[in-house]
Amino acid sequence: MFPHSFHYHRASSLAEAAAMLAELGEEAKLLAGGQSLVPLMKLRLARPAHLVDLNFVSDAAYIRAENGGLRLGAMARHADIEESEVAAQIPILHDCAAGIADVQIRNRGTIGGSVAEADPSGDWGAVLMTLPASVRCLGPRGERTVPIEEFFLDAYTSALAPDELVSEIRVKTPAPGSGGAYLAFKRSAPVYASASAAVQLALEGDTCREARIVLGAVGLTPLRAAAAEGELRGKVLEPQAIERAAEAARSVADPQPDMRGSAEYKKALVAALVKRAIGAAAKRARGERVEVSHIYA
Ligand SMILES: Cc1cc2nc3c(=O)[nH]c(=O)nc-3n(C[C@H](O)[C@H](O)[C@H](O)COP(=O)(O)OP(=O)(O)OC[C@H]3O[C@@H](n4cnc5c(N)ncnc54)[C@H](O)[C@@H]3O)c2cc1C
Repeated sequence: MFPHSFHYHRASSLAEAAAMLAELGEEAKLLAGGQSLVPLMKLRLARPAHLVDLNFVSDAAYIRAENGGLRLGAMARHADIEESEVAAQIPILHDCAAGIADVQIRNRGTIGGSVAEADPSGDWGAVLMTLPASVRCLGPRGERTVPIEEFFLDAYTSALAPDELVSEIRVKTPAPGSGGAYLAFKRSAPVYASASAAVQLALEGDTCREARIVLGAVGLTPLRAAAAEGELRGKVLEPQAIERAAEAARSVADPQPDMRGSAEYKKALVAALVKRAIGAAAKRARGERVEVSHIYA
């Protein structure tokens, strides 16, 4: 089906795009990679009267290392992040970018669009929540920084005001002795995860000094599994502790039954994914090079 007709506006800077949003009001939508918005428009589930195109904004797709962290411009494509040596310094970012859908979608879809969409099945939310990360939001009142834990409010609802846009994602590089991994279970490549688990650990010898575990696609927002983290923090990373963490994560998951599986099935997936992600994160924290790939049915 063809989308409903709309007026097209080309922004030459993010500030201009924000000004256009403020002027055109709630009938306007930003166009980034178009990988979520355009299908919705073609199904006529979204009918914006105005599209403000960000694809001609220069210098909005950067990936820079700066002050002990990374700055990712909102228009950085998933494929840019997948191929970036700078982003590879934080392996969980590479796990995420390389596993999103298929290459066509990764070539167009952006980190800014994904975060702004706040799709409960999206991959970036869970991954960013395991890191000290924040979202830079730009609007008519200027720029502000929202910690990632405060950004996702509900399914498809974020802390962005209607006249604000995501300008940048900031991530702090984890301290030495840290490692993270992101794993999802997908029915095939070009579909969203049935369930996913992002884990970031800091080790001191065999003891887990710090743990962050966030679950994806099993709640209305990415879910922090604090009880699971508590099963690891200050403990030796032995199989029983990992098993307890996986069980704790299973009880935090709150999935909806749908075409991807029953709620019980997704909870079982979560437990298995958390266990595997802890294993990979721990190896990385010990300095081992570990390739992580999603599991496809
Ligand atoms: C078949 C298919 C499979 C997919 N599988 C996955 C998957 O497995 N995992 C996954 O994470 N994603 C998946 N996606 C989604 C993909 O990652 C998209 O790239 C992403 O959700 C949206 O990014 P985008 O740049 O395409 O945004 P767009 O589609 O252009 O925009 C999405 C929404 O965000 C708004 N927006 C865009 N940029 C900004 C900004 N800078 N500030 C504020 N608002 C903004 C738009 O107005 C729109 O409302 C899939 C998409 C398709 C079509």
